[in-house]
Amino acid sequence: MSHTGSRSAALWREAQDLLPGGVNSPVRAFKAVGGTPVFFERGEGAYLFDVDGNRYVDLVCSWGPLILGHAHPNVVQAATRAIENGSSFGAPSPLELDLARKVIAMVPSIEQVRFVNSGTEAVMSAIRLARAATGRDVIVKFDGCYHGHGDSLLVAAGSGALTLGVPDSPGVPKALAALTAVLPYNDAPAVEQFFAQRGHEIACVIVEPVAANMGVVPPRLGFLETLRRVCDASGALLIFDEVMTGFRVAAGGAQELYGVRPDLTTLSKILGGGFPSGAYGGRRDLMARMSPSGPVYQAGTLSGNPAVMAAGAATLATLAQKKPWEALDAQGAKLEQGLADAFRSAGVPLTVTRVGSMGTAFFMGDEASDFAAVKRADTARFGRYHGLMLERGVYLPPSQFEAWFLSTAHDDAAIDHVLAAARESALVLAKG
Ligand code: PMP
Repeated sequence: MSHTGSRSAALWREAQDLLPGGVNSPVRAFKAVGGTPVFFERGEGAYLFDVDGNRYVDLVCSWGPLILGHAHPNVVQAATRAIENGSSFGAPSPLELDLARKVIAMVPSIEQVRFVNSGTEAVMSAIRLARAATGRDVIVKFDGCYHGHGDSLLVAAGSGALTLGVPDSPGVPKALAALTAVLPYNDAPAVEQFFAQRGHEIACVIVEPVAANMGVVPPRLGFLETLRRVCDASGALLIFDEVMTGFRVAAGGAQELYGVRPDLTTLSKILGGGFPSGAYGGRRDLMARMSPSGPVYQAGTLSGNPAVMAAGAATLATLAQKKPWEALDAQGAKLEQGLADAFRSAGVPLTVTRVGSMGTAFFMGDEASDFAAVKRADTARFGRYHGLMLERGVYLPPSQFEAWFLSTAHDDAAIDHVLAAARESALVLAKG
């Protein structure tokens, strides 16, 4: 069943001829939910407008970056002003220092930062640095966590890889994959056991401090602390991938919220205010190993791009001034409660997870505590729900295993619209 208008449908036909699978990033293709993708023309605040003139409450927010909503005037103005002065210099500009100062001030563990162009690039660079600093090759990641599409990381990855059922992509050399150990998320005893055996070989542990690429799975009490402890004991580095959580779950991200300090942090999304961005940062002695102050090579033609820096700095400045995290949490709680109520009264099992303004509604009765648990969610039912919500003007992430995000523009009217649509959809789903 398709809920897509005629212009979207025509564009989708053409897209499949021009782009592999019709898209530039797999999960956009709606393969996990059925129907055909919607083509958008414009975003404003909490809303997206498609090419057929339909309006949607946007719960994707570009997969996290748009914490201020679409086209926030501060961001638009800052980026426009930057572009008017030239789109790229390939040389230093004060805008880089402005964003660096803000990142260092907000994120507790970052003393020095390097800007790159995507989350994938940030993670690849941080891993290279960890391997160089420790002289070890093995990295540890967790089941269902996604850290971009770098070769070493495309092993038991979540997000699009999970949705499409290709956790190990063809083209990833076996020799590299063999250096990535995958442990169950939220399983502290499994981590302790692995480190007892192989701790001396491990360069780093990389983790989403709030897992969000298997749907949102918050860390169990003590899990992040265990990671810190085993890393310290074995000489491995701890990397928090805060691409999703950075600046979202608190000013200083998950490391502030949970009070655990990683050695290195990767950032993207909110960092660039909706422009292609990324960064990795951490202890000064570690960052000093990066070229040109040290021997570890990493570079980028467009890194520190003025429009990106300006949009990011405007976003972080607006956040620092508004301090919206409590209000975002309150809106998130309202959405969580409303969804739970709607499906409970309809008699449809649903488990909602949430940390502040990010969350997931899993179609299952069990606790969403780890990857094994969330895999039991009813993905066919989610697909139907997605279509029903789309028909009712709500744009949800097109996969059961992704997070919804709220922005400061998601006011009561936007949340009430989502909940009204959810109540109707729940009743339709209850009928089977
Ligand atoms: N790490 C995490 C935690 C992510 O969620 C993502 C993307 N959603 C990435 C890394 C990769 O970022 P990008 O898509 O910008 O390469």
